[in-house]
Amino acid sequence: MGNIEIFASAGNGIITVLSLLIFVVTTVLVARGKLPYKKGLSYINAGIVFEFITVYTNFQMNIEYAKGEQIDILVFIQLLLALVSMLCLAAGAFVILINNQATKAIIVGLGSIGSIASVYFVFFFPDNYIISNMQAIFIFSGFLIMSIAFWSQLHRRHATGFLTAASASTLITIIIFLKNFLGISSWEIINSWYISPLFYNIMAIAYIAMNADFLANKLENARREIVKYNLRIKEIIKSSPFPIILSRLSDDRIILANKNAIKLFGIDERELEHYRLKDFFADSDNRTVLTERLEEEKEVSDFEVLVKSYNGDTPFWLLTSATTIDYNYDIVLYAAFQDITSRKNREDLLKNQAIRDPLTSLYNRRYFEEEVKKRISQAQQSNGIYSVLMSDIDFFKRVNDTYGHKIGDKVLIELASACDKALRDGDIVARYGGEEFVIYLADVDAQMAKVVAERLRNTISELRVPTDDGRTVQFTISIGISSSKISDNIDTLIKTADEALYKAKQNGRNRVEVFCPEDLKGLDISKMAMHKDENSNRHPIFEKEESEEISLLDGVGENKIIDNTTKIENNKPAKES
Ligand code: GH3
Ligand code: MG
Ligand code: MG
Repeated sequence: MGNIEIFASAGNGIITVLSLLIFVVTTVLVARGKLPYKKGLSYINAGIVFEFITVYTNFQMNIEYAKGEQIDILVFIQLLLALVSMLCLAAGAFVILINNQATKAIIVGLGSIGSIASVYFVFFFPDNYIISNMQAIFIFSGFLIMSIAFWSQLHRRHATGFLTAASASTLITIIIFLKNFLGISSWEIINSWYISPLFYNIMAIAYIAMNADFLANKLENARREIVKYNLRIKEIIKSSPFPIILSRLSDDRIILANKNAIKLFGIDERELEHYRLKDFFADSDNRTVLTERLEEEKEVSDFEVLVKSYNGDTPFWLLTSATTIDYNYDIVLYAAFQDITSRKNREDLLKNQAIRDPLTSLYNRRYFEEEVKKRISQAQQSNGIYSVLMSDIDFFKRVNDTYGHKIGDKVLIELASACDKALRDGDIVARYGGEEFVIYLADVDAQMAKVVAERLRNTISELRVPTDDGRTVQFTISIGISSSKISDNIDTLIKTADEALYKAKQNGRNRVEVFCPEDLKGLDISKMAMHKDENSNRHPIFEKEESEEISLLDGVGENKIIDNTTKIENNKPAKES
């Protein structure tokens, strides 16, 4: 390729060497990157450098020749350099073409044949014609293979670098062909010294472009991967049997929801982005808790949340598994749900069964005692006050006897409901047993408790419970009160309230009595028993069974109406058992 005119002047030489240097440096820089064919480019670079040295040797040889010196060795060196140049170009081309090392055998084979031929034609059978043709063939083949290698890469999506290198190499190959095989040397372009530096610079540019093309390809591949990944995620979500929602972490907007989720939350599919995930949390603090847990654990499973549909119907329970993923160039929350409302309801039912009385739905005695113990210790910490009320229906046996136990049960239900309504949220009312109810009043002393009890007693005395045959039952209750002034022990509080209740019964019923600190005098609480008939907590029908809590749902027999009395006389003393 190169013309010895390169060395005709210092200017030509400097420009050419500088251009070659630029090409070498560019190659080194490009070869440090991640290009898969960078080795091939380095080999090609070496081949071109060797070609340059060949031209320089040619220049030196001409000088020696002009001096009339023996130039056999120089001719041989030049031939070998041309051969090495060809081998380097071929090696590079093969790496680019077939991208493996099987080329080694071909290179070694070609190298051996070329070396033997060079030795033979220079030293044993000198033939100037063959020698100059061999040199031309070496250089021409090297450039030709290199061009083919570059052209072969144009199928790549971004291939401006290869196109530039292929065009420049092909042009040089044609020039070499014209000059060496067709003997055309009169054309200015073919013989110009600047062809070499021009080629070096174009190749440097081509290498840089190849690098840029490679990066562009990589970026595009990454984009395609993201699109494919998004599609895959979308398909997985759409086909999941569970409701799944994707919401953007930055603004909580929903960006994808499958059919099951759309149905579950009552979402309008066309306006997904209109919704935020927290809109569906019955308690929006839960959404914050979920985010906090995700920050700590990256993945949250079995998170129970009470949610509501967009129209805000009855809330329902969902078991949630959530994690954050990349989707559509966003970080999103991937949340999968499982409806556990029926399980939760069952759990609640079991829990309630353990702590509630089935007939009145009030708390049972066990729950009352446990809960009040806790409340008392809390109240003690803040010097709080409280009272305990014990109430009992007056002459309840007569209600049962007169109207039948079914109506007796109804009376108990009505009484329970009236007590529940009459009290504040922080108070606790429970069915202590039979027709006895116990009440804990928070932040209330005995005096205030008496006011509350009187009001309750009054309310109850005005209650009318209708019977199936059109009559109404009226009844009264007696109440005993104890308070934090008496004790902080739940057993003592109950026993003393029961003592006051006993007093109320003795003093004529339908009244309220308070257990005062003076009443403690001479009393041994530990030996004190409740004023209770053994059978009073037993249901009249099921009294043989030891059950204290009978449900309305349990089978009951026929009522026996004994007389037509519709009102229980309050003032008749009960037969003390
Ligand atoms: P006093 O005014 O002295 O309290 O008279 P009383 O008739 O109410 O007597 P006591 O409290 O000793 O009797 C309660 C009765 O309540 C006895 C029992 O059979 C009845 N009883 C207990 N549990 C139930 C129940 O669940 N349903 C019905 N219908 N009656 C019950
Ligand atoms: Mg009673
Ligand atoms: Mg009783």
